[in-house]
Amino acid sequence: MLVIFIGPPGSGKGTQASRLCEHLSIAHLSTGDMFRAAIQEETELGLQAQQYMDRGELVPDQLVVEMVAEALRNAPYGDGCLLDGFPRSLPQAEALDQILAGEEKQVDVVLELDVDDGILIERLLARKRPDDTLDTIHNRLKVYQEQTSPLLNYYRERRLLSTVNGEGTVDEVHREILEQALQKNE
Ligand code: AMP
Repeated sequence: MLVIFIGPPGSGKGTQASRLCEHLSIAHLSTGDMFRAAIQEETELGLQAQQYMDRGELVPDQLVVEMVAEALRNAPYGDGCLLDGFPRSLPQAEALDQILAGEEKQVDVVLELDVDDGILIERLLARKRPDDTLDTIHNRLKVYQEQTSPLLNYYRERRLLSTVNGEGTVDEVHREILEQALQKNE
């Protein structure tokens, strides 16, 4: 099974993705986590990604696509996974379609976590990650609107999109996601 999670920063995407992966027993592929690990390990990829992350911008498509393509070729992700934070732009979604077509795989469901901007900013300021300063937060929300939200229509047109209200408690949102994810995959 291949699930895509789309949601603005602060929507609870990472938390909900972990919960759903546990429930479905599938691997969790978070491109943000992979970049943070690369930065920690001071790899070439980490050095390249950090400058973009610090500004709240997207890491260039080519770097992300290569990293994901490599992961999808290997265990545990190759056997089905949840993509958390990828794709984040139309070129990335198109690249993913190509990668999957080459392996005779397909996206099963795309879940959007929908949360009001005011709540997002409150949550982001509370979590104190290095890229969660007010300036960076505003930039990341703008980048989400401009570059990531067009993906919603892309997947809606393919009848893959389910939108979940992400403003409830972690448990409430998790339950709603389960209903949506399982319903789509019947
Ligand atoms: P996240 O943990 O998903 O909020 O990602 C943190 C940061 O990593 C983002 O603000 C981007 O700078 C970078 N990033 C993560 N995933 C992607 C992606 N698919 N495309 C471009 N940049 C990404």
